Amino acid sequence: MTDKYAVIGNPIAHSKSPEIHTMFAEQFKGKPAGDMVYKDRILAPLDGFAATVERLRKESYKGCNVTVPFKFEALQLSTRLIGRAQVARAVNTLKFEGNAILGDNTDGFGLVRDITKNLGFDIVGKHVLLMGAGGAAHGVAQPLFDINANLAVVNRTVEKAQRMTAAFDKQHQATVHTYEELVGQRFDVVINATSSGLADEMPALPPGIFAPGALAYEMMYGRETPFMKFASANGAAVVSDGFGMLVEQAAESFFIWRGVRPETAPVIAALRNR
Ligand code: NDP
Repeated sequence: MTDKYAVIGNPIAHSKSPEIHTMFAEQFKGKPAGDMVYKDRILAPLDGFAATVERLRKESYKGCNVTVPFKFEALQLSTRLIGRAQVARAVNTLKFEGNAILGDNTDGFGLVRDITKNLGFDIVGKHVLLMGAGGAAHGVAQPLFDINANLAVVNRTVEKAQRMTAAFDKQHQATVHTYEELVGQRFDVVINATSSGLADEMPALPPGIFAPGALAYEMMYGRETPFMKFASANGAAVVSDGFGMLVEQAAESFFIWRGVRPETAPVIAALRNR
């Protein structure tokens, strides 16, 4: 029987996950890994995430992706957590195995892979500024440490950034800043993990924040955000949106479910041209 997968969120109509996974599956046509269907975008009621997951399990789905605002509930629902999901305190990939629900988080993997492989940026030892302390920032902080980024975090509500960094393992310490404290500092990579772009807002970054050759990475995708415009106008050498991250995190979910790694470059190219 063909294995079924879906994505759950609220809202969900915008999700590109079905298209991405359908293209991945086509790469393995005729092989067991390609014998899957991923077409459902499931709008769960805000108080109905657990019931929706239960329904999918009863209908023999093999797993699902989880997006805003359910990544924390997915963590609670998981009966077994992969280490990186535990650190992130958020889950974006569920795999159903008998009675078990395996929870993982592939966002950080996706970001690091997009920056290092697709954009060819070496982060080791570099000064990296992570803006935000919400679900996305939690998911990417540890993977950035894992490749030895020298990490600073800034968030509008500074207490949230302090709570986030306090939970990191003790070998890894990030400095936490207010936006005002960034005046006079420079970073090799600035990552916007805030949702400011959704509201067409610009975090209060000072000009002069980008070191020579710096990368400005916006996690949002689909349009040029105020942060991307600011970065282009203020000396960032490379400005990227989060589309590559989206496809790379999906490829890691595919690997968790199907045991093989799809090619991402043709999928990024095909979807960008649509
Ligand atoms: P959350 O709601 O969990 O967190 C929002 C964060 O943004 C908070 O830290 C908040 O600060 C900050 N923020 C919001 N508005 C502003 C502003 N005007 N100025 C400064 N800070 C602001 O959102 P997520 O972490 O889930 O998502 C963040 C972004 O990442 C979204 O745009 C999402 O689309 C994107 N994303 C992209 C992915 C990809 O694959 N490309 C994957 C996951 C997320 P405060 O704490 O002070 O309220």
